[in-house]
Amino acid sequence: MTSAKGKTTSSELNPRTTRYEFLGPPGALAICIGTPVVMYAMYFGCAEEYGGCPPPQVDWAAVASALTSWSWWRGLWDTQAASLYLAYYAFVVVSWYLLPGKYVQGLPMRNGQVKTYKVNAFATLLLLFGISAGVLWRHGPQPFTIIYEKWVGLLTASTLMSFALALGCYLASFRDGALLALGGNSGNFIYDFFIGRELNPSIGSLDLKSFNELRPGLMLWALVDIAMACTQAVRRGGHVTDSMWLVVLFQCWYVADALYNESAVFTTMDITSDGFGFMLALAITIEPFLYSLQARYLVFNPTELGPVYTAMILAVNLLGYYIFRAANGEKNDFRNGRNPKNLQYITTESGRKLLTSGWWGRSRHPNYMGDLLMALAWSLPTGFNTPLTYFYVIYFTILLVHRQQRDDEACRKKYGKDWEKYKSIVPWRIVPCLY
Ligand code: NDP
Repeated sequence: MTSAKGKTTSSELNPRTTRYEFLGPPGALAICIGTPVVMYAMYFGCAEEYGGCPPPQVDWAAVASALTSWSWWRGLWDTQAASLYLAYYAFVVVSWYLLPGKYVQGLPMRNGQVKTYKVNAFATLLLLFGISAGVLWRHGPQPFTIIYEKWVGLLTASTLMSFALALGCYLASFRDGALLALGGNSGNFIYDFFIGRELNPSIGSLDLKSFNELRPGLMLWALVDIAMACTQAVRRGGHVTDSMWLVVLFQCWYVADALYNESAVFTTMDITSDGFGFMLALAITIEPFLYSLQARYLVFNPTELGPVYTAMILAVNLLGYYIFRAANGEKNDFRNGRNPKNLQYITTESGRKLLTSGWWGRSRHPNYMGDLLMALAWSLPTGFNTPLTYFYVIYFTILLVHRQQRDDEACRKKYGKDWEKYKSIVPWRIVPCLY
């Protein structure tokens, strides 16, 4: 294969991966199986028709008998739900294609090429919100209850879509000329399928990784939350509790913010370094069906917080959002050659600079701290009757601590002793004085 850089053979451009992450193939297999299992468990363990959240008593004999019966497994599939899911996914693809948007270039890849991305995710979200508002205005909240009622079928459809995307991209990565991810070319099927073998699989000009990282999962998450509020409204004669309002507003705001700042994703580790495999494809399922657990819980455990608790939770979310935006903004400005606050920095041997004051002088991932505070604010409206609605903040803490370790390792390789110097100036990893 000849690249834009000159005569480079495929094996030179795509070296074998020799170092495993996630405990190698056994770890990858455990996550591939474990994540869908957790997704279903978080439904069956926190649903009104199965006795509560969690049910006070579990009949393990009945669970074992269900798991060994074909009819129970057959019940996970729902053709109507799968059709709905496919229609939704098609809507997101068609919107990407038809809606106008600006074109943004990504960072140069190893083969010297640069990808161009169409930026119109926020416009798609506005269209989705517009259609939802139209349905609500014309038919009231009732049509949205289908999402609550067909939860398992929709979850199955989305999980299968994640699997199909990852498998399709894995198989397509064996074609001539594919640029592989440095971390996803181990030769072990399970590991490469999970991590993602090809760096930027595309269909025509549709980049599958950035598309699936941002659009179908995040937008469906917002829609699911709205549907949960509608389901609560149907059950309570049109009234939606303040706790539900908080969860829906916080999460819809987060989704809108991510999609509004779509271009920021093109410089993240996921886009520049990771391949597109089951790990990233699962986002389209986890975001709508796991991150919305609090809203689903509030459907059958409606909670009124009152003005004092509402204000306190609002303050936690606003503080988190402020830190998240301010930290990401400082780095984004700096990486784009601006330094409006005149922040201090060190210059590494490669010539690239690292901030050492402002938010990036307080910890090495201040943006994660803001994200975690927001995650806490999304669970607090559910009260303290169950630990399950705190799953998100616990899971997210583990995810971000692991991500921080991966990024630390990547920066150590990139910057060598300059990274050690930065670490001595900024010793805290995420939360100053704590971690
Ligand atoms: P970061 O935004 O923290 O970026 C890390 C990179 O920033 C490093 O690799 C390095 O790259 C650069 N950097 C590190 N230190 C400095 C410094 N002092 N000065 C300037 N640049 C520095 O990483 P993520 O991509 O993980 O996170 C982006 C956002 O996405 C975060 O807000 C995070 O919370 C959020 N996120 C959300 C998830 C979700 O599921 N909701 C999942 C993961 C992340 P370089 O030097 O090459 O520029």
